[in-house]
Amino acid sequence: MRIGILAIQGDMDLHHRKLRMIGISPLLVKTEEELKRVDGLVLPGGESTTISKILERYGLRESLKKRIEEGMPVLATCAGIIILAKKFDKDEPEVKSLGLLDVKLQRNAYGRQRESFEGPVRLKINDVEKTITGIFIRAPKIIEVGKSVEELGWYESDPVLVRQGNILAMTFHPELVDEDNSIHEFFVKMVEEKGGRNV
Ligand code: GLN
Repeated sequence: MRIGILAIQGDMDLHHRKLRMIGISPLLVKTEEELKRVDGLVLPGGESTTISKILERYGLRESLKKRIEEGMPVLATCAGIIILAKKFDKDEPEVKSLGLLDVKLQRNAYGRQRESFEGPVRLKINDVEKTITGIFIRAPKIIEVGKSVEELGWYESDPVLVRQGNILAMTFHPELVDEDNSIHEFFVKMVEEKGGRNV
């Protein structure tokens, strides 16, 4: 099975490290050729305006959209969820999102005082419940969730981890927390279940 990390901009190195911790050697994906070689893809956090512009410049936007529509599993953190979202609370002319994940987001929603903060995130994945440390960095807030979207994690009363079929997306950064690997492990299982070939 080959898992890729979109290596355009942002914290790809920390996802790389986290995946290696659970026995996966990820491929950095910058081109269409590399995208073809992966069975699942991580969309890291960073700056969504930059990522969205470069996706277009590299000619990757449409092929990425198509692969996700065809069922390729993706794990998206922070700017990654912004790249996937269908709706925003206001016009975001700088972000040409792929419009695949049925949530409404408010970018940079936690205000200046709390631009970056840590807080407890309650997870409920496959009926296993636990609380992990969520690191939020100029995070968006999920303010509406469509019918086909399942909530798997919450900070206070906000959903912060959601799944819609092959898309697993969150507003915080599990790659920054060493003591828990459950989200990346769950994603690897999604890729295996999808029939990710072993290489
Ligand atoms: N605020 C950033 C954006 O809008 C996201 C920040 C992050 O990925 N940590 O793209």
